[in-house]
Amino acid sequence: MPENLSTPRPALTGQELHLRYGRTPVVHGVSIDLIPGTVTTLLGPNGSGKSTVLRSLARLHPLGSGEIRLGGPEGERDAALLSAKELARALTLFSQSRTSPQGLSVRDVVAFGRHPHRRRFAGLTDADRAAISHAMELTGIADFAPRGIGELSGGEMQRVWLASCLAQDTGIVLLDEPTNHLDLRYQIETLDLVRDLAEIHGVAVGIVLHDLDHAARIADQVVLLSAGRIHAAGAVADVLTSEHLSDVYDIPIDVAHDPGTGRLRIDALGRHGARVAAPV
Ligand code: ADP
Repeated sequence: MPENLSTPRPALTGQELHLRYGRTPVVHGVSIDLIPGTVTTLLGPNGSGKSTVLRSLARLHPLGSGEIRLGGPEGERDAALLSAKELARALTLFSQSRTSPQGLSVRDVVAFGRHPHRRRFAGLTDADRAAISHAMELTGIADFAPRGIGELSGGEMQRVWLASCLAQDTGIVLLDEPTNHLDLRYQIETLDLVRDLAEIHGVAVGIVLHDLDHAARIADQVVLLSAGRIHAAGAVADVLTSEHLSDVYDIPIDVAHDPGTGRLRIDALGRHGARVAAPV
C-alpha cells in the first residue's frame, strides 16, 4: 500500500510504557506519538501519571517495560541507545522541579541550553549567541539578560528556564505545566509560544496541562489519562467531550462549541453555580 504522505512520521513514539516508583506500578501500558508540527497535550486528574509519562519520554524516569523511539532523517532510533548529548540535541524537557544555581545571570542560565551543541572547552559560536538571543526575545526576558537570577520572581525564573529549553533548539519539546506561577498575560503568551513552536518551527510538542481551557486552546491531539491508563486519545473534539471529562474528573463538566472563537468552552459545574443574577 502507498504510504500516506500527508501524515508526518512521529518525531517520538512511546510504546506500551509501564512505569513505576519502586515496586508500585503507576502507569500501565500508555502509548503516545508526538508528531512534528503539532501539539499533543496530556491531561488527567492529579496523580494520573502525566508527569511520569513525560519524564519517561525524556529518559528521566526508567521504563519498567515498553520502548521509546525517536524518528528523524536517519530513520528510527531507540532512545535508550543514544548518548546523553545525542538525546539533548533531539529533545528538551521543561519541568517545574529545577533548582536555580546561584550567582549566575539570566543570560548564563539561558546559555546552558546550548550545552549539547558546544564542543568541549570552546566558547559560544555566533549560532549559539543567535539562539540565546532569539530564545530570550521569544520569552520576553531580553530586557533583564544581565540581571542575577537571585533577583527574579518565580514567574520570571520560569520564563528564564523556558528560554533555556528553547535555546537548546530541538525538534521535540516536552513541557510540564509551563503556565504554572505565571500571571494571565504570560500564561497566554506561553500558550501562543507553544503553538508557534509547532506551527512555525515544525516542533513536535508534548505538554502536560491541568487547565482544560488551555488544552482546548492549543492542542491538536489530547491523551486523557486516568489512574495511569489512557481513557481516551485522539483529536481535541473527540477527547474533550462532556462524557469523557465528567468520567475522568468525577464531576459534571459541560463542553460547548463557541461559534464566536471557534473554540471549545469547558465548564466544570460546581455546587454554587453562577454568582451573577441572570438578566430578566
Ligand atoms: P500527575 O502528573 O498526573 O499529577 P504523576 O505522574 O506525578 O501524576 O504521579 C503518578 C503517580 O505516581 C501518583 O500516584 C503519584 O502519587 C505517584 N508518584 C509521583 N511521584 C512519586 C515519587 N517520587 N515517589 C512515589 N510515587 C510517586
